[in-house]
Amino acid sequence: MNPLAGSIPARADMEQRAQAVLLGSAVGDALGATTEFMNPAQIREKFGIHKDIVGGGWLNLDPGQVTDDTEMTLCVARAIAAKGEWDLVGIADRFAQWLEGNPVDVGVTCRRGIEGYRAKRQLQVPPGKKDAGNGAAMRIAPVAIFSLGNEEGMARLAVEQARLTHNHPLSDAACVAVGIMVQWGILGYPAQKLRAVADELVDRHPEFLFEDYDGGTTAYVVDTMRTALEAFFTTGCFEECLIKTVNRGGDADTTAAIAGAIAGARYGLEAIPSRWLLALDPALRDELSLLALRLLNLSPLFSGKRES
Ligand code: MN
Ligand code: MN
Repeated sequence: MNPLAGSIPARADMEQRAQAVLLGSAVGDALGATTEFMNPAQIREKFGIHKDIVGGGWLNLDPGQVTDDTEMTLCVARAIAAKGEWDLVGIADRFAQWLEGNPVDVGVTCRRGIEGYRAKRQLQVPPGKKDAGNGAAMRIAPVAIFSLGNEEGMARLAVEQARLTHNHPLSDAACVAVGIMVQWGILGYPAQKLRAVADELVDRHPEFLFEDYDGGTTAYVVDTMRTALEAFFTTGCFEECLIKTVNRGGDADTTAAIAGAIAGARYGLEAIPSRWLLALDPALRDELSLLALRLLNLSPLFSGKRES
């Protein structure tokens, strides 16, 4: 089936949705980093409801500062944008450079994968039981924008970029599901279409059952996805979705980075509260906005090339 059959939204509409994907993910990271590794009771006690980008958290961040989720997303986006085409080696090089710069945070699995690349130029880590973390799914958004108009291509590239650090069927499945939801959001598909993607993920991997989920929000990609999907499908706007996500605590910056990408696509740029956008570093905000447009321009839908 051609997902583009019928009407597609105006270009300007897709552009602002693509920008909302990257910006939505970054504000999720900045907002959630404050409550990362807290539990809901601790969050309630300290903030009532956590809803402003104030920094702090276990990393003692400045207000608006982002973490590995956004930094690795930038590596993926910058590599593709710089080459003007898919560039797995470029992504790996940027991950390596980023790790050398002593980032504020880096996941264990990501570090191991990047070190494998540095030592052996390995572009795919071997399958690992412990590789079902959320570190690949959190940086998938640029791939979804870049491959808009070619879903199979997106699925292939999503898994390629994931396996630089994570090689596990549940991580792969999460990356592809997030990628499709982001793409369908940019294309303006209704909520029930996005729901069908999530339901299909659950059909194939029942671990991801997210309805009524109120369990822990860990770095296990299954818990991460259940948290993000539950929040997305039980709220009606970007702001509510992210507030619900970050007040669950746990791996809050990462659950909110993923929820922010999906909700950004679905609700668009105008739905992102300006107090959150303004809290980000203006240079980061500008770069994410430009990268979103650049990636969209390179996509099969806009470039006319079939293959990404
Ligand atoms: Mn993080
Ligand atoms: Mn995290």
